[in-house]
Amino acid sequence: MRFDVITLFPDLFDSYLDHGLLGKAIQRGLVSIHRHNLRDFAPESVHRPVDDRPFGGGPGMLIQVEPTVRCVESVLASDDEIRPILLTPSGETFCQPVAEQLATEGRVVLLCGRYEGFDQRVTDILRPREISVGDFVLNGGEVAAMTIIDAVVRLVPGVLGDPSSSIEDSFSRGNRRLEYPQYTRPREFRGHAVPEVLLSGDHQKIEAWRAEQIELRTRQRRQDLL
Ligand code: SAM
Repeated sequence: MRFDVITLFPDLFDSYLDHGLLGKAIQRGLVSIHRHNLRDFAPESVHRPVDDRPFGGGPGMLIQVEPTVRCVESVLASDDEIRPILLTPSGETFCQPVAEQLATEGRVVLLCGRYEGFDQRVTDILRPREISVGDFVLNGGEVAAMTIIDAVVRLVPGVLGDPSSSIEDSFSRGNRRLEYPQYTRPREFRGHAVPEVLLSGDHQKIEAWRAEQIELRTRQRRQDLL
């Protein structure tokens, strides 16, 4: 699975790419992440500006259409089947089914905004899929890109030691509800004991208890998922 991330801050990803499941997936060649600096597509000058003030006034700066379109076209090259993803609070909300769908695509191109976002003509010309990671405003698209990469990478075959976890996880295709509570040693801590059923060794009873807990927890916390 290949990710291309277009950003003004490619170095922000350094530590994130080296650690955990993602770092291992990269080392094992299951996933590759290619970073592209949008500034490389700005006109030649000392500062290579990619932003300018919005027409009509208003706060902040906007990322300009020309370097953005040139950068995306260069990254896509002849791969015109790929629809880039533009990260924006105005997009469809990212969720597990979207992650599952992206994991089947083989290549995902993510366009990270900064400042007040992009000139509208970026969307008009490139026709990207617009995705938001939630109803809040981040300073830039990089954390949103990491969120999407993180969620998708878990679903790439071979990345998780036990693939059943990506089916049973909260929101996932085997469940679409919240996960049941889990416990590990010790059996008791400050008067809080592990439920007896989990120590019983009776797998049918354990499965029934977990199914009950999924329903209970989802009803209590996320009625919208039922
Ligand atoms: N002025 C924009 C608005 O009100 O929609 C917000 C711009 S935000 C400060 C800068 C960049 O961060 C955006 O262009 C986008 O790439 C990214 N961003 C911020 N919040 C986001 C979210 N909830 N989901 C995805 N990307 C987000």
